[in-house]
Amino acid sequence: MTPTSASRGSNGRPGDRGQGDARPGAGGAGLASAQSPLRRRLLPRRGGRDIAIDLGTANTLVFVRGEGIVASEPSVVAVDTENGEVHAVGEEAQMMIGRTPARISAVRPLRHGVIADFEVAERMLRYFMGRVHRSRHARPRVMMCAPSGITGVERRALTEACVAAGARSVHLIEESMAAAIGAGLPIDEPSANMVVDVGGGTSEVAVISLGGIVVSRSLRVGGYDMDEKVAAWLRGTHGLAIGESTAERVKLEVGSVSPDLSQGSTEVKGRDPVSGLPRQVDVTSEEMRTALEGPVAEIVVAVRAALEDTPPELSSDIPQRGIFLAGGGALLRGLGERIREETSVPVQLTESPLTCVALGAGLALDEIETLEVAGGTPARGTPAPRSRRRRMRR
Ligand code: ADP
Ligand code: MG
Repeated sequence: MTPTSASRGSNGRPGDRGQGDARPGAGGAGLASAQSPLRRRLLPRRGGRDIAIDLGTANTLVFVRGEGIVASEPSVVAVDTENGEVHAVGEEAQMMIGRTPARISAVRPLRHGVIADFEVAERMLRYFMGRVHRSRHARPRVMMCAPSGITGVERRALTEACVAAGARSVHLIEESMAAAIGAGLPIDEPSANMVVDVGGGTSEVAVISLGGIVVSRSLRVGGYDMDEKVAAWLRGTHGLAIGESTAERVKLEVGSVSPDLSQGSTEVKGRDPVSGLPRQVDVTSEEMRTALEGPVAEIVVAVRAALEDTPPELSSDIPQRGIFLAGGGALLRGLGERIREETSVPVQLTESPLTCVALGAGLALDEIETLEVAGGTPARGTPAPRSRRRRMRR
């Protein structure tokens, strides 16, 4: 699997690079030429274009093979609790969080990178796939990103939700591997590449060499846990109750974990839990450093543990190349600095932390023919896609 750098812009997210190498047959091309009968047999049928999905706890991104990233929206669904009707998905549903009438509930179907609400996750996936394929009958092949620390049951839920939402076959790719490919790291070489992906609900640390994950650590801690700490700090220190969107805003504005970074403060509006009346306070970056210490320390410990577990031949490569940070949580001010201080290894942000996992999974779509011929890890959901049923009978 050859990682390639990207160049085309995509959907307006900060730092987006879109899909870069759309060379026909890049990667898995050695397998069969576009004209060969084998290739024709494997080409998407019934109008389904191959897609890659980064189904994150916070954001879902969709990459279409040959096009790039075509959708990037929050992983949120607004559901009517009385009749189960879906009112909105993505951006629109996100706006409803904490502001919905009693019967409409804004649900995040994933928790810590895994599906917590199967039905809602399926509806959300259907929405995202529908953005790519207008036809209800299109059954695309899907490359789905998955945290490396998930259980067999959780993997199964992921593939089954994807099949139920209309996928013909599903191949899972570890998020860290996708992040490394998306970052353009030379993962096929016999040297170590270290990636730390801090998402909304998980943090993944991996050392990759010769196209495989050598060491991995998966933590069920991410940006949302930081938001919770911000809310807990405001309640405990200032006696102010705030919602999760406000907590995230405070983190984005003044969140910081490095002591020598600029001092900032922001005004926070909330409710006094005792009087029940609206009130506002000022919070500073200094306070945020204390509030965010717990989750940040957990991430640092995981990075150190992964370094300790790396075989000596590989660990000697890491200081030369450095540690690459991906995921939205990696944008927290001072996080890279903090990891560098505690590991003595240089750290850098990937070029597009919020999109590099989707981008890497999208580039890995070029290997999908190889995976299908080799048996790969196709979906085991129900109903089995027709092509698979045929293959099973053979
Ligand atoms: P996931 O892969 O779980 O969907 P993402 O990689 O999209 O997560 O990252 C989302 C998380 O990143 C959210 O918790 C968000 O608050 C956090 N985040 C985004 N930008 C920043 C920033 N500038 N500083 C700190 N955290 C950020
Ligand atoms: Mg992610």
